[in-house]
Amino acid sequence: MTQTPSTDFLPTSRAEMAMRGWDALDILFVSGDAYVDHPAFGIPLLARVLEAEGYRVGILAQPQWKNPQALQSMGRPRLFAAVSAGAMDSMVNRYTAAKKVRNEDAYTPGGQEGARPDRAVIAYTAALKGAFKGLPVIIGGIEASLRRLAHYDFWDDRVRRSVLLDSKADLLVYGMAEEPLREIARRAASGEEPKEMAGIRGTAIMAREAPEGSSILPSFEEVAASRASYGKAFCLTAEESGHGRVLAQPHGHRWVVVQPPARPLNAAELDRIYARPFTRRPHPSYRDTIPAYEQIKFSITSHRGCFGGCAFCAITHHQGKTVQSRSPASILAEIAGLTRHPEFRGTISDIGGPTANMYASFCADEKTNRKCRRASCLYPAVCTNLHASGRKAANLLTQARALPGVKHVFVASGVRYDLLDQQQEYFEALLAHHVGGLLKIAPESVVPDVTEVMRKPGPEPLEKFLRYYRDSCREKGVRRGIVPYLIAGHPGCTLAHMVDTALYLKRHNLRVEQVQEFTPTPGTLATCIWHTGRDPFTGRHVHVPKDPKERRLQKALLLWHLPQSRAEIEEALRRCGREKDGAELLGSAPHRHSAASREKTRRRK
Ligand code: SF4
Repeated sequence: MTQTPSTDFLPTSRAEMAMRGWDALDILFVSGDAYVDHPAFGIPLLARVLEAEGYRVGILAQPQWKNPQALQSMGRPRLFAAVSAGAMDSMVNRYTAAKKVRNEDAYTPGGQEGARPDRAVIAYTAALKGAFKGLPVIIGGIEASLRRLAHYDFWDDRVRRSVLLDSKADLLVYGMAEEPLREIARRAASGEEPKEMAGIRGTAIMAREAPEGSSILPSFEEVAASRASYGKAFCLTAEESGHGRVLAQPHGHRWVVVQPPARPLNAAELDRIYARPFTRRPHPSYRDTIPAYEQIKFSITSHRGCFGGCAFCAITHHQGKTVQSRSPASILAEIAGLTRHPEFRGTISDIGGPTANMYASFCADEKTNRKCRRASCLYPAVCTNLHASGRKAANLLTQARALPGVKHVFVASGVRYDLLDQQQEYFEALLAHHVGGLLKIAPESVVPDVTEVMRKPGPEPLEKFLRYYRDSCREKGVRRGIVPYLIAGHPGCTLAHMVDTALYLKRHNLRVEQVQEFTPTPGTLATCIWHTGRDPFTGRHVHVPKDPKERRLQKALLLWHLPQSRAEIEEALRRCGREKDGAELLGSAPHRHSAASREKTRRRK
């Protein structure tokens, strides 16, 4: 493979700064991920945005955080340092839902785990503050974003303070950060201190007083002591921030002040960002491949944002409910550039975003949109104001596959099948040309009581889609499977619900490949329910499967087709008094609790 010169990358060392003739940086980015100069990675994208504004920007990727010299290797930046844990919260990245250390970190060369600290935002900020006395540090990325207010932390099993306090950072940027960072850099360059920068949308700051007119949330002390206050703070945050209000939450004698979200970007603004000179490769200093890069090497981000509002998903919290789409011209130009990549063999692995078929969708009623309190435009039913014909997305796919050098264009991002009625044209194109092998869909559950807690479509739209998919395959004479993604251990899901799910899967001839176990990530509605045991909006009690044994049995039920699940399925059926379903689920009358199956269960424990 041709090596891309390191001068095409942003500097990562003094030597690379010297190659550009720089003696100092303006802004130093510190990231928990390896440096892949690709727009799918947040830090390189932001660094390229600030580079375009004329700032001298460098990237320290996965530095040795315990060694001050490693932090000082590119010198003291003139304006500030900007810290991100990486594309994932560092605790989610490192630990499984069972709190075990994962074997792989997909964002590190060779998939090596341990290249970033736990609670990376706090660790990197402390390291920078130690290495450079008085240097302003700005934190951002998903870890800082979702921990901007007092939040329940699954790994500590307690409510933690805003990460602004725990990290002692000067300013926090949440959500997609291009606009706030541009303004911060501009104001810092004109001599303003980041910790004094009040009023920038998409930021949070510590203050001695709550700004006039701000919405006051229950304090950290209250939400830490009372689950009811935690639920109240969650509802207030969701309602008030969606209406452009400033939020203020007391922490002791100080306040965390959160400005309204940053303004969504229009197509021209997004196109300019994606037109930056990304090399689309990992930095040449890496010897081993980076698993996350291998996955997205030939994929295209067509848009950001999601109006699905699923209870467990952090994307709406981070990217926002408004879908912001690039123009077809910008996307097609990026694909044309990819065809010149020496490793490109003609396949675009994905054109999508958080949800592929939301490309170019929007709320058609601006006035209602401004007052809209719905967390989802799709749940409990597709809103009549939603313009989501899918026509532009279908055209985009057609144009992409007609480009010279392109043989296949696949859609690997998730699709919302409950938009089938509105998007016949898109689904026709998708099934005819853009599914590679199996179609993956994400109902997450098929039981109405559970999908209601998840804010997902129930079994009816799923069945309609399955019928459509199978009829369409039959008409085209193709044999193509479908794989559902389902979550075990989600709030609201009991063992009996999971027995119903397993029966549904068997009746519909569906098999999951891999079970996802619910992890309560900071900031989501599902995590609030996990912590409080109640839906904060209705006050209704919700079952929370916290018992590890129950979670294991739920997982086994989803894998009903595997012989090794049998003993646990039998146990699950007994636990919820559903032995009568054993014959259908296991293909015969449930085994009597044999000595062999008892021994197998004991060993698994
Ligand atoms: S009015 Fe309907 S389409 Fe518009 S934002 Fe609200 S839920 Fe979404």
